[in-house]
Amino acid sequence: MPELSKRTEAFTDSVIRRMTRVSLQYGAVNLSQGFPDFDPPQEILDRLAEVTREDYHQYSITWGAQNFREALAEKQSRLMGRKIDPNGEIVVTCGSTEAMMAAMMTAVNPGDKVIVFSPFYENYGADAILSGAEPIYVPLRPPAFGFDSDELEAAFRQHPKALILCNPSNPCGKVFTLEELEQIAALAEKYDVFVITDEVYEHIVYPPNRHIYFASLPGMWERTISCSSLSKTYSITGWRLGYIIAPPRIIETAKKVHDFLTVGAAAPLQEAAVTGLRFGDSYYTQLQEKYTAKRGLFLSGLDALGIVHTVPQGAYYVLLDISEFGFASDLEFCETLAREVGVGAVPGSSFFREPVNHLIRLHFAKRDETLNEALTRLAGLRKKIPARRPSV
Ligand code: GLN
Repeated sequence: MPELSKRTEAFTDSVIRRMTRVSLQYGAVNLSQGFPDFDPPQEILDRLAEVTREDYHQYSITWGAQNFREALAEKQSRLMGRKIDPNGEIVVTCGSTEAMMAAMMTAVNPGDKVIVFSPFYENYGADAILSGAEPIYVPLRPPAFGFDSDELEAAFRQHPKALILCNPSNPCGKVFTLEELEQIAALAEKYDVFVITDEVYEHIVYPPNRHIYFASLPGMWERTISCSSLSKTYSITGWRLGYIIAPPRIIETAKKVHDFLTVGAAAPLQEAAVTGLRFGDSYYTQLQEKYTAKRGLFLSGLDALGIVHTVPQGAYYVLLDISEFGFASDLEFCETLAREVGVGAVPGSSFFREPVNHLIRLHFAKRDETLNEALTRLAGLRKKIPARRPSV
């Protein structure tokens, strides 16, 4: 039989998605793959029910339904501080997963280098493989997950084609400050590099931190490919609605990449989601308050159990330090955790370029009952997973 493609040889399956399967297998409270277990806003669901009886069953315009692009342009113009043209500056994609892949394929040639901050969301590794790019990793160092300016400039000196910026950041919860973004912007300009953003947690930011759109920085609109999605903002991760916002020169090409990859996002879902895009500001304030309360509940529960963890500034992930258990493999720890304690987590090593195996990622985008159940189970953690002493 012929061999399969070289391109896919380096692929492993997604550890995040695998841990969801492991959680299901052991009946664990699944705090691994980040998605809510509460309903999307009722207005969106009501509109979805109507849409099924209306005329939205065939392809929409490949780069996004007109109504959707107009509603999105209006919302993002308000947030990003510039008038976004719904006809020339948006491509609607099947989730931000496709948006990021299409952005990479639009901007990057095989062999080009791309700067990725580590820890990073695991899809960027696959995006790089599929588009033939070679990642240059720049560490974000705990506890604040700041970068070293010299290290970052050294990466830029290798003449990358693009930098990937996940802000607010999955998995470390970092929200980049204006000063940090300005440093990145100055380097992007100096070395003439694209910035591809992943801003899916744009509305999940804990005060006093605030989200700054990279494209809104002076001079950055022209070189920024902004990717985001409706998944987290409206609790509709299964609808697979994402988008790219960029200047017309970039969008012209991104439209073609997207068209040949997927043709388009689901037409009835785009129409139903317009209801969400038209929500007023109070929706986003309430969303922020809801997640701030969940963060409070979950982190104080972890504190009460004496578990050392990160405090996210944005997004809904927390990294727990499992050093005390003495496991050589964090993947094995997560499997043991799901089986013995009944809580699903993602091994930290799937996010770090550096050899890190003392962290696991949990998320708190869950109903309070679910979070409390997870905390109750975690209370038995030390009893159910005795610490391993490394043999001398
Ligand atoms: N972004 C979410 C996570 O990091 C879900 C990713 C996915 O599986 N598409 O868990």
